[in-house]
Amino acid sequence: MAGYRAATAEQAAFLSELLDHDLLLETGVPGVYGQGVDFERAREAFTALVTRAAEPDHPESMRFPPLLPRYQIETNGYLASFPHLAGSVFSFDGSDAEALELEARAGRHEDWSGLQSMTDLVVLPAACYPVYPEIAKRGSLPAHGVTVDTGSSWVFRNEASGDPARMQIFHMLEFVRIGDPDEVAAFRDDWLRRTSGIFQRVGITVESELATDPFFGRAGRMLAANQRAQELKFELVAQVGGPDPTAIASFNYHQDHFTLIYGIDLEGGGVAHTGCVAFGLERITLAMFRANGLELRRWPVDVCAELWP
Ligand code: ATP
Ligand code: ZN
Repeated sequence: MAGYRAATAEQAAFLSELLDHDLLLETGVPGVYGQGVDFERAREAFTALVTRAAEPDHPESMRFPPLLPRYQIETNGYLASFPHLAGSVFSFDGSDAEALELEARAGRHEDWSGLQSMTDLVVLPAACYPVYPEIAKRGSLPAHGVTVDTGSSWVFRNEASGDPARMQIFHMLEFVRIGDPDEVAAFRDDWLRRTSGIFQRVGITVESELATDPFFGRAGRMLAANQRAQELKFELVAQVGGPDPTAIASFNYHQDHFTLIYGIDLEGGGVAHTGCVAFGLERITLAMFRANGLELRRWPVDVCAELWP
């Protein structure tokens, strides 16, 4: 399997416990799991908790499907930075004879990719991506910019791994801030503080770390160095699969990357900036099970009171 990352002994042991407890359900492909009832209950409760925590920001809610027009990743820089993580949707548009050939090859589990062609869709790689073109359509921003809540959105990344914390498809919830550079930076820093408190209250011990995105290739090493030097990305890391801690939430300041591409301006002129706070909901849920035990009904009362007020 291309790019498969093997699990550490500790990650493999955690995964088998999760499967034994019917928290995750195996599909046969690493990083693609079904979710049992208790896992989903905990994930949805955390989603609701963080949504409540955002109420003072009065975010506008926007919901998008887990498919994105291919045009967007052709435009927004994703393919330059993360060509290795992208997933594209292909389908069949051929003749009767080609359909028979496709079925025959597929039936023998041979390569049938040559009989399919690219559609206009890719699988959504980050919950915030559909937000920028939507905001751009409105013309210039209102005086204090906008804050958007993407809700819990399925996203895909081509990174098969035996580590239960590294999935290929998972839920991401983002709060996206678009506005004046100072407001965006303050939003990012404020959420970093607020989120540490939220994690503490559901039993997860976190550390804040300066981070970089997994940029591709040689040019990517430059991008990562620049991102680190300018302190554009922070992560809260926690014990999930172990032994090293894993990022369960990210706090990103994109500066004018998206606003220049999409032409999003401040009211009265001037380029706006963007930032996003991204919650990896499966990793957070796994961290809660790791910290509070694999039996949901035995979780500490104060943790349950936070999740199910
Ligand atoms: P962008 O600035 O491009 O929008 P982002 O902040 O939305 O980036 P990441 O920081 O890469 O995206 O991911 C956000 C969160 O999603 C991470 O903090 C992590 O919790 C979760 N996550 C990322 N990759 C995986 C994965 N393979 N499996 C499970 N969760 C993941
Ligand atoms: Zn984002």
